[in-house]
Amino acid sequence: MPNAVWRPVINRTPGGRTEQRGLVLHVQADDTSPFGWFNQSGSQASSDFWVSRTGVIEQYVETGSDRAWAQGAGNSAYASVETEGTPDQPLTEQQVEGVARIYAWGAELWGWPLRVVDSTTERGLTFHGAGGRAWGGHPDCPGEIRKAQRGRIIARAAELLNTPTPPVTPPPVPSFPAWPGRYISLRSPYLRGDDVRQWQQRMRDRGWSLDVDGVFGPASARVARAFQSEKGLDADAIIGPATWSAAWTAPRT
Ligand SMILES: [Zn+2]
Repeated sequence: MPNAVWRPVINRTPGGRTEQRGLVLHVQADDTSPFGWFNQSGSQASSDFWVSRTGVIEQYVETGSDRAWAQGAGNSAYASVETEGTPDQPLTEQQVEGVARIYAWGAELWGWPLRVVDSTTERGLTFHGAGGRAWGGHPDCPGEIRKAQRGRIIARAAELLNTPTPPVTPPPVPSFPAWPGRYISLRSPYLRGDDVRQWQQRMRDRGWSLDVDGVFGPASARVARAFQSEKGLDADAIIGPATWSAAWTAPRT
């Protein structure tokens, strides 16, 4: 697979892949590359892929022709991916990305369907524990947390397959602080806060004479009313969403 580190191992059955039903998710229950373990006959174990916490993808067998030894009776029909870490830890973002890249690759080459299955016969992204004893009896592989992340893996794989090349650069959008969510007006006691300060600073930057003290007193109300009149807004000296955004977006006159 492109962008995977190719590290062929001795534990494999050449020509042993007879079907392409999809991918089986595993948890390594350990850290660091399993290459050494997979490359000694005593372990009798291997997988097609391994994805590190940081997103490095290692490939150990010729997926599509050779059979890896990860899931007993499921080895001939499904590819396998080990994921670094333990069942109590969620896959990292980079691991989700790595497994998604493997899945997108398989979907393109062999038509692995973009869906999650809890099955030993259906095509899709399944998990080791689904196979019970016939698949080696690992009910907790990869565990509930990582099992639940398969939906995100598939969604990301779909994105990868649909990403236009080159990616479209979104147009720049003008940005200004969101309205704070409360109406700022002259009240007793005076309203105070960072939102008042932010608005005062903005009005000052626009050339209005105003103290930036974070207190909405009579001087602030006068500026608000004058600004609203100038911009054709309701001159009520209440800073709601329209008056707030106008402070950032209205042309200077
Ligand atoms: Zn497993």
